[in-house]
Order: sequence, then structure tokens, then C-alpha cells
Amino acid sequence: MGEIIDLKGMLKELDESVRDELKSTPEVVDSGKTLDISKLPIEARRWLKVSGVLAVVADLKGSTKLGTGKHAASTASIYEAGTGNVVKIFNRFGADFIAIQGDGAFALFWGESNFERAMCAAITIRTFSDEFSKRLETKWPDSPLTGFKVGVAEGRLLVKRVGTPRNPNEQEPVWAGKAVNYAAKAAQTADRNQVIVTGCVWDMVEKNDYLAISCGCPDGPSLNIWNNIEVNNLPDGEPEAQGRLLVAGWCDTHGAEFCQAIMDGKKKRDDVSHLRAEVLKSQFGNVVTEKARRARELRHVGPR
Ligand SMILES: [Zn+2]
Repeated sequence: MGEIIDLKGMLKELDESVRDELKSTPEVVDSGKTLDISKLPIEARRWLKVSGVLAVVADLKGSTKLGTGKHAASTASIYEAGTGNVVKIFNRFGADFIAIQGDGAFALFWGESNFERAMCAAITIRTFSDEFSKRLETKWPDSPLTGFKVGVAEGRLLVKRVGTPRNPNEQEPVWAGKAVNYAAKAAQTADRNQVIVTGCVWDMVEKNDYLAISCGCPDGPSLNIWNNIEVNNLPDGEPEAQGRLLVAGWCDTHGAEFCQAIMDGKKKRDDVSHLRAEVLKSQFGNVVTEKARRARELRHVGPR
């Protein structure tokens, strides 16, 4: 005999809680650009609103093909060596919230230098993923090709702890807002070992020479490390969909220096002033991307 489930009673109770929830508007408290996650309410019907959050999603390509049959050992190693190390990278760059999700992980960054920390984490995952994929291919040549697809987005989020009151093991912060969803869509649009940033993240990247312009190996600094890309499956006309795709990881020679410069808040390089204006024009400027840029500027006039 299984446990007695009062299904009818349960559904009635669930419906009543939905009805009560919809009867009144939950309180939304503006937390500004930062958040103390340990103070999230669980029972109170109070959501916190935090602005300018960077979301980074790292998805393992082809994970649905990783079997648990004769390939169980390789699957287990790929998850452990993959997702485990992505979480390590997020931690190293001071992610403010990290969650492991099925075949990948996502992190949120808010507060001081959150853009810099998020971008450095994203590029580090991309660089790590290159070597990770190579090692897997050497060890298991028959395994499906895998590697991390990385997406970055920015925006305002609402958060509340949802779950069973008095049992912290059954509570999770729930994040509502476009940033996490858009970062996931950007990651899905990417191929393995690529980073895609949405529109307003690009608007910040282009203001930083260390991110927007290559170090110069081997033919001198250039803009060709970023390409235009449209993020799939965002609403029609969404200006965030006009994103950019980063095709390079950290350089063996200059990566450490560039990463440190970005983390130190540096933005301008003396050697590339002639290229700075080109970032705005050249390969990026076309009718579609310029229209999206103007739409984002208008959207961001108010607080976000
Ligand atoms: Zn270099």
C-alpha cells in the first residue's frame, strides 16, 4: 500500500493559494544595484528588485547525447570536469549567485565591477572550454563533440526565496526578469567554445579597449574578434537580440595582463586609439544594429 494521497484536497488547496496570491499585489522593494542574498524573505510576500545584474550562462553542448550506458564513465567525467570547473571559475571572479542547472551552470553578478567580473568569467570559461574539449576528444574520440556555449545578458531582476518555510534545504531563490532568460538564449545560439553577449552588454564592451579590441597577436590589434549575431528566439524587434559573438579566448601571451587590467577597472589602451572609433562603425554598423542601438539608448534613459 502506498501513502494515501488526497489529490482532490491537494488541488483545491493549490488553487486557493493561487487565488489568494492573485487577490493582492505582492510588495516589491527596490534594492538598488546590490543585494544581500542571505536576507531574502521566504514567507513574506515581498520581492526584491535589483538593477543592472549581469547574468552568465554556460551550457554544455550536446549533453543530451552523453549516454549513461556504455559511455557512463565518460559522461560522469565530462560533467565533473566540466560543470565543476565552470563553478570554480564563477567563484574565482566573485559571482554573487551560482546555480547548477542540468547540463551547465549560471551565475549572477551585481554590485561593484560586476560587468568586469562577469566578462572575465565568461571569457575564462570560453578559454577553458577549448582545452577541455581537446582533452575529451583525445581520451574519448568516439564521444559526441562537446564544450561550453556561453551567453551574457544584463538587466533588472526580481528575486524571492521560494520553497518550504523553515526548511532551508527546500528553498531556492527564484529570479524573475529577462537577464537570465536572455543569457540562456544567447548561450543556446552560441556554438561550443563561443561567447555571445546581448545588445546592452555589447554597449558596455565597446567602451572597453581591453574587451573590444584584440591584443594584437599575431598581426596587430584588430576588431575582428567580435562579429554581429542575432540571438535566436527572442521576441520580434527586441533590441537586445542584436548581440555580438566573441570568437577568441584569452591570448596565451597577453591574456593574464588583459584580464588583470579589466579587473583593475582599466578601459583605455594607448596603442589602439586609432581603432576606437572603428569599433562603432566598421563591421558592426548596419541598419539593423544601429536601429537596435538607438532603441536600447531610449530604453536606458530611465533607471534599470
Ligand atoms: Zn596576445
